[in-house]
Amino acid sequence: MMEQKIDIKSLSLQELTKVTQKCKAPDFRARQIFEWLHVHLATGFEEMTNLPNSLKEQMKEFCEIRNASARKVQVSGIDGTRKYLFELNDGNLIESVMMRYRHGNSVCVSSQVGCAMGCRFCASTIGGLVRNLTVSEMLSQVYEIQRDTGERVSNIVIMGMGEPLTNYDNVTGFIRQISNENTLHISQRNITISTCGIVPAIIRLSKESLKCTLALSLHAPNDEIRRSIMPIAEKYTIKEILHACDRYFENTGRRITFEYCLIDGVNDRKEHAVLLADLLKGRNAHVNLIPVNPVRERENGFGAAKEQDISAFRSILEDAGITVTRRREMGRDIQGACGQLVRRSV
Ligand code: SAH
Repeated sequence: MMEQKIDIKSLSLQELTKVTQKCKAPDFRARQIFEWLHVHLATGFEEMTNLPNSLKEQMKEFCEIRNASARKVQVSGIDGTRKYLFELNDGNLIESVMMRYRHGNSVCVSSQVGCAMGCRFCASTIGGLVRNLTVSEMLSQVYEIQRDTGERVSNIVIMGMGEPLTNYDNVTGFIRQISNENTLHISQRNITISTCGIVPAIIRLSKESLKCTLALSLHAPNDEIRRSIMPIAEKYTIKEILHACDRYFENTGRRITFEYCLIDGVNDRKEHAVLLADLLKGRNAHVNLIPVNPVRERENGFGAAKEQDISAFRSILEDAGITVTRRREMGRDIQGACGQLVRRSV
């Protein structure tokens, strides 16, 4: 069997130093390579001009650099949102989205190729899970977008394809690496992890001493409705999820965002808003409403909630003292909005 090469973009500086030591190179070479990868965003050894050729040749034998190469970039005519179709070293395709806000550029990162969760309204899960992304492949999405636009990325939302908390080690490794002061140094406060509610992983995450925001994809005011649209609800009840969210808030001091996508007639009635307000009352919670984006491959008949229902829903929550925002649906014209990322061949 061919031995797997070391994926050096996934390594910490310490781990990379062990690799250069194995090549009998002085430790400052590891620092140089780390800087090439994570500051200059190099995608190959040939770009690393201040390294001796002998070291590069030696490393190429047993090391690899995993990249995400843009196969297609679509730019929204409405808001300048950019959707990237990336090809990974092994040929798998993933998507990432860059959104421009007044407060800076935000990248929506994928954490897996495909997804195993099966949410009925979402396109990313149609073909099931193919594999987890490595730390380097998550970094590469941000690095490539920054290289392509020449603009700094200041915010990250792990809300692309995949369920981040089922790829726990790589996702937390990615957050540690990209918030490191010797890389892009993106503040952990500007990083959001979105999950459909993997309870043990939320508890574990609450103890990591990370400062990121947790977004919980709730989407229903009771277990019955939740089970009808999200298979994961068979495994964890809303009560268990809220308990885990409370632990997260206690341990990190970070307020939870509850994502709620409104589906016409399914979860957007006044009585649903009343139930939701009851659930969240007394919690330091913030609800983010988003009308569901219809997914053409889904044929489930799910339509976006009507404007009047959205405002009625919103008022009921606000009257109960809950902070509500409405998510802007960026890049809708390029199918870059939430839940629309899907692996299609180029
Ligand atoms: N697996 C994670 C992150 C990926 S999805 C999670 O479940 O949170 C990112 C967000 O988009 C989630 O809140 C998800 O429920 C939502 N979403 C998925 N499909 C959608 C659609 N068609 N319309 C609106 N939001 C959608």
